[in-house]
Amino acid sequence: MAIPIPSRQLFIDGQWTEPILKKRIPIINPSTEEIIGVCRSSYPFAFARLLLQLCLVWACAWLNPLGLPPGRWQGGVGGFVLDDVAGCFEYYADLAEGLDAKQKAPLSIPMDSFKSYVLKEPIGVVGLITPWNYPLLMATWKVAPALAAGCAAILKPSELASITCLELADVCREVGLPPGVLNILTGLGPEAGAPLAIHPHVDKIAFTGSTATGSKIMAAAAQLVKPVSLELGGKSPIVIFEDVDLDKAAEWTAFGCFWTNGQICSATSRLIVHESIAAEFLDKLVKWIKNIKISDPLEEGCRLGPVVSGGQYEKVLNFISTAKSEGATILTGGARPEHQKKGFFIEPTLIADVTTSMQIWREEVFGPVLCVKTFSSEDEAIELANDTHYGLGAAVISKDLERCERLAKALQAGIVWINCSQPCFTQAPWGGTKRSGFGRELGEWGLDNYLSVKQVTQYIADEPW
Ligand code: NAD
Repeated sequence: MAIPIPSRQLFIDGQWTEPILKKRIPIINPSTEEIIGVCRSSYPFAFARLLLQLCLVWACAWLNPLGLPPGRWQGGVGGFVLDDVAGCFEYYADLAEGLDAKQKAPLSIPMDSFKSYVLKEPIGVVGLITPWNYPLLMATWKVAPALAAGCAAILKPSELASITCLELADVCREVGLPPGVLNILTGLGPEAGAPLAIHPHVDKIAFTGSTATGSKIMAAAAQLVKPVSLELGGKSPIVIFEDVDLDKAAEWTAFGCFWTNGQICSATSRLIVHESIAAEFLDKLVKWIKNIKISDPLEEGCRLGPVVSGGQYEKVLNFISTAKSEGATILTGGARPEHQKKGFFIEPTLIADVTTSMQIWREEVFGPVLCVKTFSSEDEAIELANDTHYGLGAAVISKDLERCERLAKALQAGIVWINCSQPCFTQAPWGGTKRSGFGRELGEWGLDNYLSVKQVTQYIADEPW
């Protein structure tokens, strides 16, 4: 089925604007490898003038109508993501209203001759740089709190998935968001994203993407001592203890790694399973994995589609071949499915006989690849789980809830799931430790990303003079 892809320009100052640079980025359907549209690539300095004109407004009044009526968005984009998108806008609209009430809250200070209070103010013009997985949702996690905080925003979505983000522009116009409050620039990272990090009129960068890019953005922003928040990559563990229901644990394990094809920052892609159940558990897991239907996502019953691009396809297959050459064993998957002649499809893959020095154990694949190691004691499980530079998510599966709570404390991660993997709620903080970044999105923490805290102290012992 052909999906109509709208041809879009850049969305600047409330207008669809043709960029100075005439470059075009092709949009490729990863199921068929056909070019189905093009998207503009913006010129680094095209928005300098605009930035000077941007005004800061309390945008909460325009957020509620962004609760996207379902009909408006049906056809082409997954429904549950849109529910999350709408829910996120609604949530931050509520928080924005509460924020007004919290202004000027008096502080308890130890001297009667002074009174102090705090003002929470919009941080200014914010640059929001987002990745290609869940493009609209990742953008919403930033746009909604940024506007709720009263910031003006420049969104730079991934060049691999800009179209749904540009659709947001129409909704903004429809609901009367003032021109210039949200601007959307498409283009390549170094051309359209990097200038945001070094531009003196962008007051903060909120970035989601790879650790390598996050590190570049942090270095660039450091030149102007510009605040950044970074949501980066992961290599999250899932620890399976010996007391579990093997079928349920196998299902959560497969879901935790293969949902959205492993193209989730928090995918639990390192399986750490107790040695006493390993053989039986892996047997069940392999059967479960082999049952996953791989097809064009528009086909009924599809569980696993193609990976996002030709580049990602090559990268994932290289990870698998390096694992093999380093001595690991492919228990299932490892190649293109035979029935898919076209498209960037890769079988869900389970890899055993892995050592902790192998690339497949250490590096983020961002594809449908799960590697497994066994453990014999709780301490060893924790050591293996924490044996990573990343610290985004971690899952523990066990009937012993006290043990789960102990692991929740011991695991070095920003998010710990007990007896599940991957659930995510707008109200709960999202973000990592170590090289998975810092700062938190979602919940009230997401709003704080875009607020600056100002202390106001008044001398009150004398009459004002
Ligand atoms: P990426 O780092 O390649 O690109 C992310 C964004 O940065 C894109 O918009 C890209 O154009 C831009 N960019 C690239 N180079 C830039 C530069 N020099 N300056 C400014 N911007 C630049 O990441 P990706 O491949 O799009 O996304 C996958 C990565 O995102 C994975 O590592 C994944 O774990 C991570 N991710 C993290 C989270 C999280 O919440 N922690 C969520 C989703 C994805």
